[in-house]
Amino acid sequence: MQIEYQTHSCLPTQNPNWMHYMTQKPIIQIINLSKIYGLGDIQVKALDNVSLTVTEGEFVAIMGPSGSGKSTLMNILGCLDRPSEGNYLLAGEDVSEMDKVQLASIRNQKLGFVFQSYNLLPRVSALDNVMLPMLYDNRNNTSEEEQRSRALKALEQVGLAERVNHQPHELSGGQCQRVAIARALVNEPVLILADEPTGNLDTKSSIEIMNILSKLHDEGKTIVMVTHENDIASYAQRIIHFRDGRVDCDQPNGHKPVQLVQEGVDHEMA
Ligand code: ADP
Ligand code: MG
Repeated sequence: MQIEYQTHSCLPTQNPNWMHYMTQKPIIQIINLSKIYGLGDIQVKALDNVSLTVTEGEFVAIMGPSGSGKSTLMNILGCLDRPSEGNYLLAGEDVSEMDKVQLASIRNQKLGFVFQSYNLLPRVSALDNVMLPMLYDNRNNTSEEEQRSRALKALEQVGLAERVNHQPHELSGGQCQRVAIARALVNEPVLILADEPTGNLDTKSSIEIMNILSKLHDEGKTIVMVTHENDIASYAQRIIHFRDGRVDCDQPNGHKPVQLVQEGVDHEMA
């Protein structure tokens, strides 16, 4: 199998850390990947021969018009679906041919998910929601006490130490999304996948969530996020645009986050 590494077009002069960048460990390698839906005459090529690499510590935003293949890509990256053709290596391991049971285990151990609608269990405390991935981890031989302390640490990381016993209905949307981020972190995944993480949030909560994702990026986490908002994408380090199931444009993001301006928020966040 020939692996074609796709790199940024940025020149060394534009990116002083390019040597460092080129030597980073690949977390996502997708190679000639296609996804075809349907049979017979009405086939839809949702992904059309896509190859790309995301390395450890990158924060990537995926953008593109409706129908361009973003959800299909996220489903494959999240091991929820398999490609029709091509390969997907996650942290060096080829997951393209794995069966459902193996994929479930990879999802639990290697991936953290943040969804637009939080997907928390409703009548369960924040702490128990965050402990859930550890319950399903079949490698896990840690005591309940250790699991509890890891969940508390994850909730602290997202600034929710004071709310650990609250249930989702007692929390704001932004706080629910912070619980979801803590849950995504707790098994120490190699990759965090965020699908429109601020899609249900007001401006102030969106800023809080993006600041948390930026902090995680600064700490070295690898994040891939789908968004259709330029302001939200501006927090990422690299922006990939899809069109008709192909990469239309893949560029480093040279801009600082666009200020999401809302009256009062700037002062409050300062
Ligand atoms: P996006 O998330 O960018 O809006 P999708 O990945 O959902 O795009 O869809 C890409 C293309 O694949 C679209 O033409 C869509 O209609 C088609 N598609 C997506 N899911 C299915 C499916 N389960 N069956 C058939 N076609 C699908
Ligand atoms: Mg979609």
